[in-house]
Amino acid sequence: MTEPPTALPAVGVDIGGTKVAGGVVAADGTLLDTARRATPGSSVADTEDAIVAVVEELAGRHEALVGVGIGAAGWFDRTGDTVLFSPHLAWRNSTLRKDLAARLQRPLWVGNDADAAAWAEYRYGAARGASLALMITLGTGIGGGIVIDGRLQRGAHGVAGEWGHMRVVPDGRLCACGSRGCWEQYASGTALGQTAREVALTSPAAAGRLLERVDGRAERLTGEDVARTAADGDPLALELVTEVGTWLGQGIADLAAVLDPEVVVIGGGVSVLGELVLGPARTRLDRALPGRGFRPGPRVVAAQLGAQAGLIGAADLVRSGA
Ligand SMILES: [Zn+2]
Repeated sequence: MTEPPTALPAVGVDIGGTKVAGGVVAADGTLLDTARRATPGSSVADTEDAIVAVVEELAGRHEALVGVGIGAAGWFDRTGDTVLFSPHLAWRNSTLRKDLAARLQRPLWVGNDADAAAWAEYRYGAARGASLALMITLGTGIGGGIVIDGRLQRGAHGVAGEWGHMRVVPDGRLCACGSRGCWEQYASGTALGQTAREVALTSPAAAGRLLERVDGRAERLTGEDVARTAADGDPLALELVTEVGTWLGQGIADLAAVLDPEVVVIGGGVSVLGELVLGPARTRLDRALPGRGFRPGPRVVAAQLGAQAGLIGAADLVRSGA
């Protein structure tokens, strides 16, 4: 008996700034196999070669596949045909989908990595069954995805959910998108590192534990250093993490004013800090939610699928013919 195509596994691929991670994903969301390649972010051709290599490696081990779903840290047009812009990769109006379709000869879904992650959390994770779910990925920047009534919403031009670039501080920190004061400059891994460097330069005595990690070189501090030091209980690092959580909660309150979500799922690298970030976010949300006390607010929960969410979601999106 031949299985219907939708019950077959699909390949999901997640493209980050430094690596292409692929996996074979079963219809129930289980990850059956993985493959990865490093990719130099500076070259469009090298990135495409890495994608093709990952897919061919996986296809060599799994015969029956529905297609290939690809999520990347970029802004896509509505069809997924064109990558409009990617702050951390080389794409500028690139015809990624057409190029890959010609080389892979398989059904494709191509789109934003946070959209794919949002879909994965809706299908298999923390947002299952929600009528209106938002995904916020806290990594180098802030990504986002929107699922309403069981459909991924990509916007009229494909770039909905880019709330990392809402302006939260007039004339604030410069952002990779070309604007100033964007939310992701205050509530992301990059923001954590930036604030730590500023504090360590002006108050080195208070930043002793942080500076130990980087041989006293404040300019080398990253968000990861702060996260590790906070996990060890350092008061300053905890304060910096709380600040990021507070900015996160304020942004969620603003999103709640627009979209009234049932659940907001927090994923991405910074979310491994768990309640250290989510606690302050909920506290701020409770204080900043418009109409607080007279309306329900969203649940704010940690993502369940971890770093694999993007590729799991992309695989399911090609399987479902999105
Ligand atoms: Zn920006």
